[in-house]
Amino acid sequence: MTKKILILPGDYIGPEILGEAVKVLETLKRGGADIAWTFGHLGGAAYDAEGHPYPPSTQKAAREADAILLGAVGGPKYDELPRELRPERGLLGIRKDLNLFANLRPARVYEELADSSSLKKEFIAGLDILILRELTGDIYFGQPRGRRKNADGHDEGFDTMHYSRPEVERIARVAFEAARKRSKRVCSVDKENVLDTSRFWREVVVQVHKEYPDVELSHMYVDNAAMQLVKKPKQFDVIVTGNIFGDILSDEASMLAGSIGMLPSASLDANNKGMYEPIHGSAPDIAGQNKANPLATILSVGMMFKYSFNRPEVSDRIENAVKKVLQQGHRTGDIAMKGEKIIGTREMGDAVVAALG
Ligand code: NAD
Repeated sequence: MTKKILILPGDYIGPEILGEAVKVLETLKRGGADIAWTFGHLGGAAYDAEGHPYPPSTQKAAREADAILLGAVGGPKYDELPRELRPERGLLGIRKDLNLFANLRPARVYEELADSSSLKKEFIAGLDILILRELTGDIYFGQPRGRRKNADGHDEGFDTMHYSRPEVERIARVAFEAARKRSKRVCSVDKENVLDTSRFWREVVVQVHKEYPDVELSHMYVDNAAMQLVKKPKQFDVIVTGNIFGDILSDEASMLAGSIGMLPSASLDANNKGMYEPIHGSAPDIAGQNKANPLATILSVGMMFKYSFNRPEVSDRIENAVKKVLQQGHRTGDIAMKGEKIIGTREMGDAVVAALG
């Protein structure tokens, strides 16, 4: 059956990088992939077009699609909007609406780019970590939240952290399943020494682990994990953690790999329907200049074929094409070392299409 993809370019560099991903989709379709796609709005572009960052037309299309490919949302043009109309609300809205609770971010270091990491090559060469972040719970969604007067009469802001048993169980299962396809090691990251929510998280992860005796489970406090990621990153295989800790650790891990322009991500529901997007933002500083690196978005297409369409061989083909263009020496500005020739967004997309054969 034809797989339906909803493409949401978003804001600033979003349409530019998505344009290159579409070239890849066109090449795959010409080669026989049974896919079809439509375009929609999310974020600032959706506010401009329809007055809401996640409008009903996008909701309908997103619910009907098999997978969603997103560019990035946000930027200075929308910074003054009221909170409920800001582009980020569109992103949180679609994740919640589609129940995309598992965020997968591989951090892999390509041999050719190992020198562009801020860490010494010997610490990161061959690095291959999967960070699994719970995406629909935790303090980002907890109620009550807001502002109030405290008992002393002072104004205060407050949020609520919580996780339910089913929420922890399902993300733990995704982690153990993913580890089975890798090096069979899961490190669960929490703040069990301070937070009740973390104590509960750890207890449930240990219970779910009983179903996966072949996978090794360890635990680490989030502050130590932040340190270990820069001290000895290759000790990790799969890291599983909650929404707020995962937000921070996955950005940290992305820096190990050099540029955020190289890193894809997937957010999955319980049936592997997913939204795929580069981990970077809308990069307003380079928008419209043919400077953005489209490879993270193209690699996100690869993840889509692997996780939502169950076609790992297509995913491998895309990854190999990306490896090939790097071996050929093609570099956008963000991944170029001093003196290396720099090419533009469109030229990089063309190089990947050529490498796909
Ligand atoms: P950013 O990721 O957009 O940019 C950070 C730096 O990385 C900038 O110097 C940018 O030029 C560079 N960069 C990012 N992507 C690149 C690419 N593909 N190629 C080359 N260089 C690239 O982060 P920011 O500047 O903090 O945020 C800009 C806007 O994006 C904000 O409005 C923010 O809220 C939004 N944002 C959106 C998402 C998302 O849509 N998922 C994620 C993060 C930030």
